[in-house]
Amino acid sequence: MSVVAATPEAISEAALLLQAGELVAFPTETVYGLGADATNGKAVAAIFDAKGRPHFNPLIVHVADITVAHRLAYLPDAAQRICEAFWPGPLTVVLKRRPDSGLSELVSAGLDTVALRMPDHPIARSLLVAAGRPLAAPSANRSGHVSPTRAQHVADDLGDKVAMVLDGGPTAHGIESTIINAASERHVMLRSGSIPGRTIETTLGIKLVRPVQADRPQVTAPGQLASHYAPRARVRLNVTHDFAPGEAVLAFGPFEALRHRTVTGMFINLSERADLIEAAANLFAALRKLDASGASSIAVTPIPEQGLGEAINDRLHRAAAPRA
Ligand code: AMP
Ligand code: MG
Repeated sequence: MSVVAATPEAISEAALLLQAGELVAFPTETVYGLGADATNGKAVAAIFDAKGRPHFNPLIVHVADITVAHRLAYLPDAAQRICEAFWPGPLTVVLKRRPDSGLSELVSAGLDTVALRMPDHPIARSLLVAAGRPLAAPSANRSGHVSPTRAQHVADDLGDKVAMVLDGGPTAHGIESTIINAASERHVMLRSGSIPGRTIETTLGIKLVRPVQADRPQVTAPGQLASHYAPRARVRLNVTHDFAPGEAVLAFGPFEALRHRTVTGMFINLSERADLIEAAANLFAALRKLDASGASSIAVTPIPEQGLGEAINDRLHRAAAPRA
């Protein structure tokens, strides 16, 4: 990993690294972001791996301008007005994804929405233009550590997990972006942040719905804000034999034992070479596909509880839990 001054040459190099699926940390007006190509599932999975997050939550996708936002998601009129008023800036809007957005499923943690933001920082914007693709970029720190406001913080915290850190000096706000769900006419403030809710309401003449305190998830788990993707089918975990007739199977690794079992339903292997990053990148698309096969249950073979396996298992446990 190298910390380099964000010269135009360094930004070009960073863009090439991103296009190759590597992680690059860069300054925004809030904190340093850990960037990855949002259309590359493995690159997005590498973000979760580098941060050591024990669960998958949807990530904010940074865009160069509003035309990119239109290509990725549907913007109702009010969403368009919110973006025009506050972009570039620390305002994130959650919108319905377009089916042809090209975004990885993991970046939305399997949801049919995506959180978009256009950062107000010259380095972030030059990088977005140079990379020519949307960039997923949560704060560039390990899970549970404080958000980095200097390039050296990122280097100290993430080390070799990141290919390059673009040094643009200290960031200005240090406070996260405000997040508004603008997918429908009911505008819910999902997270308060740099831009006060009042400012948005008075500027646009709209009313923001604030979740009542009781509905609010613990602050330590902001990812819980989104309702989680869950398949319709019943999910059975740690199954190694006795697959039911017609049962769909989600496998991991070179599952030799399967050869001797009868799998009659749809079969998808998350990663035959037991690569947890590849598995994480494939997880949500695989669940959707198995669910769409019409099977009434999905059997999941064991997945090791190490590295990204923890986040994969966390999501599978939620999918397997009885529904309210
Ligand atoms: P960060 O880790 O700072 O990038 O924060 C991402 C935040 O955005 C989390 O609190 C997520 O819950 C929220 N978020 C991202 N995408 C979505 C989405 N599609 N729906 C709801 N919340 C989202
Ligand atoms: Mg953070």
